[in-house]
Amino acid sequence: MTDEKIESLSKESRLFLPPTNPTAAVGSQEEYERIYRRSIDDMEGFWAERADELLSWEKKWDNVLEWDFDVPEIKWFSGGKLNVAYNCLDRHLENGRRNKAALIWQGEQDQDVKVYTYQMLHDEVCRFANVLKKKGIKKGDRVSIYLPMIPELAVAMLACARIGAPHSIVFAGFSANALRDRINDCGSKVHITGTAVNRAGRQIPLKPNTDEALKECPGVEQVVVVDSAPGYQADMVEGRDVWWHEEMAEDDVHGGCPCESMESEDPLFILYTSGSTGKPKGVFHTQAGYLTYTAHTCQWVFDLKDDDVHWCTADIGWVTGHSYIVYGPLALGATSLMFEGVPTYPNPDRYWQICQKFKVNIFYTAPTVIRALMREGDQWTQNHDLSNLRVLGTVGEPINPEAWMWYYKQIGNSKLPIVDTWWQTETGGHVISGLPYATPMKPGAASTPLPGIDAAIIDKDGKEVGPDEGGFLVIRKPWPGMLRGVWGNQERFKATYFAGFPGTYESGDGARRDEDGYFWIMGRVDDVINVSGHRLGTAEIESALVAHPAVSEAAVVGMPHEVKGQSIYAYVTLKGDEDESDELRKELVTHVRKEIGPLAAPEIMQFAPGLPKTRSGKIMRRILRKIAEGDTSNLGDTSTLADPGVVQDLIEGNADLT
Ligand code: ATP
Ligand code: MG
Repeated sequence: MTDEKIESLSKESRLFLPPTNPTAAVGSQEEYERIYRRSIDDMEGFWAERADELLSWEKKWDNVLEWDFDVPEIKWFSGGKLNVAYNCLDRHLENGRRNKAALIWQGEQDQDVKVYTYQMLHDEVCRFANVLKKKGIKKGDRVSIYLPMIPELAVAMLACARIGAPHSIVFAGFSANALRDRINDCGSKVHITGTAVNRAGRQIPLKPNTDEALKECPGVEQVVVVDSAPGYQADMVEGRDVWWHEEMAEDDVHGGCPCESMESEDPLFILYTSGSTGKPKGVFHTQAGYLTYTAHTCQWVFDLKDDDVHWCTADIGWVTGHSYIVYGPLALGATSLMFEGVPTYPNPDRYWQICQKFKVNIFYTAPTVIRALMREGDQWTQNHDLSNLRVLGTVGEPINPEAWMWYYKQIGNSKLPIVDTWWQTETGGHVISGLPYATPMKPGAASTPLPGIDAAIIDKDGKEVGPDEGGFLVIRKPWPGMLRGVWGNQERFKATYFAGFPGTYESGDGARRDEDGYFWIMGRVDDVINVSGHRLGTAEIESALVAHPAVSEAAVVGMPHEVKGQSIYAYVTLKGDEDESDELRKELVTHVRKEIGPLAAPEIMQFAPGLPKTRSGKIMRRILRKIAEGDTSNLGDTSTLADPGVVQDLIEGNADLT
């Protein structure tokens, strides 16, 4: 194998037909194909129609699209004016949705529920926008936000959008150092934090991290503190810190707040990537294109309808929460559910209990959650009424076909459509995904590019590869939701996304396309393993391991090998009741050999009770690679690691093996 292609060994061939639904936005594969062709042939016409249909404009655009990937520069709908908060709130007050639930908040304790109608959410947002204005925040000023999954988080975001201040949300699980770096990078003047996070029955301090971080953030002048964990005592810094509830009770913040008139291409927010592959990038998105795109994908990919309850389980600290808890669903005037807790507390049926309680229709989660719940056993999915579920979704990593099957059978009752949505912080919204009532489903395939997305798989010379040949996944034309830059770092913007293949957006992921045109994500390009000249992606080998009944999760990396160049080192997490033994190790190697071929057979297998993951739940193979190579002196940027303790355990486990 030459040409830097990635070789596919997968033999997955199951196919499931989607249900029919006459009211679906896209109702058949033929319809999808027709729309897709049109969207590529007349890209500007397609997006102009969508932007017109989905958003309310103060002034229509002059140009639909101006772009040059060599600069790089991308402008959608320039000359247009609008306000994102107006589109997510105000317009719904006049179109019959005033008293409808915009946001349902389920706290960690079952009895803690808050429901905000569109009118209520609007009023809260106006009040907090006035608080920000009183603190001197003007259009263009950045506001950093470090809050748990509480309604104030959504209120703060929309208040920023209302007055044109880009927000930069930092996931509340991050450390003081990670927070400090992100605050300094975005240059915020006002910071919003909570006292503590309620997590699995405990209170995890948040305010002390803010105080620690702010010691080295000279730009931050004022801090607004939400009493996010009642009972937790936080220290307030005189002259700098104020309480959210006290500011919101002041007389002069009542009485409404006008929406700032924003240009289409003004920045809306900055958000850092997960850091799976290195130092996180401060991706920024703008107003009109991003909102058009998130509303559009919510409508077509989730088939989100007016009376649906939409539940995306991601944290708002990630792009998934930005796009599919807040901006997309609210732009459409739907009801979005927000959950403060975790899937396994108090028991591993918490999600299904919530689905039943609120009659959830659209449910969107991540493979890491599905694998974790699968590991707990099927008994937890029984005895809950999931009959209101209509569309299931997954995002974040390639979903192993066995995990997909579990989701399909246990949660989808072997009949619901599952949309496997491939996208990135950079893409703003879904870019490759099936459509729930149009696309036949193949477990583990991200399926087909969405309308308007000119995706391709190329070799290192930029030439498109043939069917079932793996290569670099790229997108050749702009789409409205794509990033407009790396905050304050045009060089990095160009170098990361547009330098590898000039004129093309490079995703950093490897993929193959099968003979039906389906995309299968094979893993990160950086993680490709070269065994005797065969370049293998990580996803297929890991999925073969997960297909064994004893395994719940697996990660593979390359390690140096005298003869083969590299050999495969596998880290395997077993299901709860399985015993680690040499016999099982041998059995698993034989299993992989049989499932996908001898080339993929792991040379070394380490049983690992836990894998290093980013805070967003993605496996960090770059750290596993270092451990496998025995080079643990410099593990690279570990600031986004969820549980550093896991790494030490793995290093010790490695020492016992080698
Ligand atoms: P960094 O860019 O800092 O390394 P990251 O890439 O993990 O971090 P995100 O933007 O949160 O940060 O994640 C996007 C990546 O997640 C994609 O590039 C892809 O590797 C993976 N991913 C997301 N959804 C899917 C999916 N449905 N199937 C396969 N992979 C997915
Ligand atoms: Mg990335």
